[in-house]
This record gives sequence, C-alpha cells and structure tokens, in this order.
Amino acid sequence: MENYAVVGNPIAHSRSPFIHAQFAQQTGVNIRYTALLAPLDAFESTVITFRKNGGTGMNITVPFKFEAYSLATRWTERAQAARAVNTFKFEQENGILGDNTDGIGLVRDIETNLNFPLANKHILLMGAGGAASGVILPLLQQQPNLLAIANRTSSKAIALQQQFATHGTILGGHYQDFVGQSFDLIINATSASLHNALPPAPAELFRNATLAYDMLYSTKLTPFLEFAQSQGITKLADGTGMLVEQAAESFLLWHNIRPTTQDVIQKLKAELSSHAV
Ligand code: NDP
Repeated sequence: MENYAVVGNPIAHSRSPFIHAQFAQQTGVNIRYTALLAPLDAFESTVITFRKNGGTGMNITVPFKFEAYSLATRWTERAQAARAVNTFKFEQENGILGDNTDGIGLVRDIETNLNFPLANKHILLMGAGGAASGVILPLLQQQPNLLAIANRTSSKAIALQQQFATHGTILGGHYQDFVGQSFDLIINATSASLHNALPPAPAELFRNATLAYDMLYSTKLTPFLEFAQSQGITKLADGTGMLVEQAAESFLLWHNIRPTTQDVIQKLKAELSSHAV
C-alpha cells in the first residue's frame, strides 16, 4: 500500500484525508493518506522522516508552500511560476517533483462546476499571499481580458504583476486603484474571512460582477460573500469545489487516474455541515 500525507501547521482541520479516502474508494486505488503536523521550524525534517518511512507523496498546506518550493528538486511550470508548491511526488535518488494544483483546482471549479468561462472576462483577484500567487498563471492561461490583483499592502500586488507580466494582461495595486474599472468576477484570496473580516474593497468594484468567489470553504456565507450578495451579485461560491478539484489534480499526478469530483464535493459539503456549529 502506498503512503501519502498532507503536512501543515495547524493540520487537524484538514479535509484532505477525507477527500483522498473518497477518491481511493471510487477508483479502487489502495492508499493510506494521513494528516501530519510539522513543527514550524521542522518542515524539512518532517518530510525526510515521512519519506524514509515509506512515503510516496505529500500535499503541503499553510504555512509551508514556499518552503516546499525550495525543497523540491524539479517543478511543474505552474509551480515554477507560483514559486509555491502544494504537491510533492517523490522520485528516484532523493528527487522531489513539486507541483501546484491550487490554480487548476480553482479554474475547474469556476469553469466546469459553476459553468463560468473565464475567457475575455475582467477578473479582480483580492489578496497577494500564497493562495493568490498559486492561481495567477492558471487564471491567465484562460485568457481573460484583464486580471487585476488588489492587496492591502499594494507593493505585494505590484510584485505579482511584475512576476507574471509575460503571461497575460495583469495589473497590481491597492483596492482604490481599481475604482472606475468594471469586473465580471471577484475572487477573494485574502485570509480576511478567517478572521470574520472584509477586505477594504470599495462597493463600486462589485457593481457589474456576476460571480463572487471566496477561496475559504465554509458552510455559511463569509463576510465577503454576504457583502457581494448585498451588492446584488446572485452567483456566490465558496472554496469547497476548489479544495476537491486541487486534490483531484494531485491524485492524478500520483496515480495517473482522474477521479470524478461532483459526488465528492457533495459528500464534503454534507460532512462539513454535519460538523458545523
Ligand atoms: P497568506 O497569509 O499567504 O496571505 C493572506 C492575504 O490576505 C494577504 O494578501 C493579506 O494582505 C490578506 N489579508 C489578510 N487579512 C486581511 C484583511 N483583514 N483585509 C484585507 N486583506 C487581508 O494566506 P493564503 O494566501 O495562504 O490563504 C488565503 C486564503 O485562501 C485562506 O482563507 C485560505 O483558507 C484560502 N485557500 C483556500 C484553498 C482552497 O482549496 N479552497 C487553497 C489555498 C488557500 P497583506 O499582504 O496586506 O497582509
């Protein structure tokens, strides 16, 4: 039996073991997939020990995605562009392939599950942390008319604009810098919802949007989605679909089988609701 794990800190809340257990059952692949807590100063030694004990691959979550990028020995194009890694595939002679499946997970959820094609759209991406940098290349590959990155600390959004400038039409700045622009889709990639807060986005930015997407997965509307709804946006989505889709892409990389996701998204939603307070 092959051994996999998701590593992070904290990790107890992770739904990845649940999702991969569903995929394994669905495809008949025999795996063990656990959640592994790494001390904040011991990510590398946690990975090495897991591998020594027979590990085949790993998912990496907060706060280790940038460290995981440095530990990999080769990268997929999307991981290279993001400079962040959420999937390891262990290879011969201590090699580690690093991939980043967050962006393709988001794109699949928006385009396939929510039936919202991204080509020629004006997209506002709020936030400039690890989650934002992981999704920029896959979003630009869908050829939107514009991808605007807005962040509280505008220098980080401008740095992302420069990092991805050769891949498509991208702008970076503070939220206020985009007043006067019209957006079809607004994606919240900040961690504000984790703290029950709202990013400082002027209401004008929401005026023409038809879809609001919060990457945080939640059983109730986040402050961002509540605000979007109050501005008249009717299509609202949280990050549950993205979470399952990014896991499906990791599963494909490891096992060469693409699991179906719709059924697992529904099961995960039911599982999350059953634990909601
Ligand atoms: P980071 O810590 O790397 O980045 C946090 C970002 O949020 C920064 O841009 C920060 O701005 C901004 N921010 C934090 N608080 C506020 C606030 N009150 N107002 C405005 N901006 C704020 O986090 P990640 O990028 O790793 O994660 C972001 C979110 O994405 C999390 O909620 C996470 O759960 C979710 N996520 C979901 C996934 C899924 O599969 N569904 C996958 C990955 C992430 P500044 O730079 O100014 O500090």
